[in-house]
Amino acid sequence: MNRIILLGGPGSGKSTYSKSLSEHFNIPHISVGELMREEQKINPEVDKYVSAGELVPTDIIIDILKERLSESDSVDGYILDGFPRSMEQVEAMETEDIEYDYVVNLNVSEDEVVMRLTARGREDDTPEIIKKRLSIFDKQTGPVIQHFKDEMIDIKAEGREIEDTAEDIINSIESKTENRKYKKGMTFKNYTGL
Ligand code: AMP
Repeated sequence: MNRIILLGGPGSGKSTYSKSLSEHFNIPHISVGELMREEQKINPEVDKYVSAGELVPTDIIIDILKERLSESDSVDGYILDGFPRSMEQVEAMETEDIEYDYVVNLNVSEDEVVMRLTARGREDDTPEIIKKRLSIFDKQTGPVIQHFKDEMIDIKAEGREIEDTAEDIINSIESKTENRKYKKGMTFKNYTGL
């Protein structure tokens, strides 16, 4: 299955690469930020956090995410864009059985991020809120990246064409799939060779 977790800071291109992955693997792009921007319109509590550039409490995130993952389009896989963003969410993921097959981390330098976000001009992209989101990312999401370090696919997401980065991500996932198939095959062969 292709259940992909896409990690990366604000402005790392999560949404851009999610779209490429979604088209390539034919799986839905589930953007937690997008789900929150929808929720923000009807839920003042969520609005408070999103407008301030702060993380929405984990229980709210999990409720909304689980509902989204229960939709029929997610059965063969999905791209989780922007989750988990804290160790609390990593733990909740385990207790709530939110599963994954691949973790991809998009690496972008801080200078490039500030430049990209300033150019983007979304409502929560003011200099002050950008600074806040970057500091939250370092503090809360930094440990998440450390947690997945050994198993994740680390991708340099700047200094080259978007298409080239997208191809790199897809190739890395596919070669990992091949590797897993091969390892499975070896076990089977060893077993039957007994
Ligand atoms: P994004 O579009 O990923 O930059 O997310 C926009 C905003 O949605 C963030 O600044 C947070 O307020 C909220 N948000 C998105 N993902 C999460 C998450 N996993 N946990 C908590 N809040 C989140």
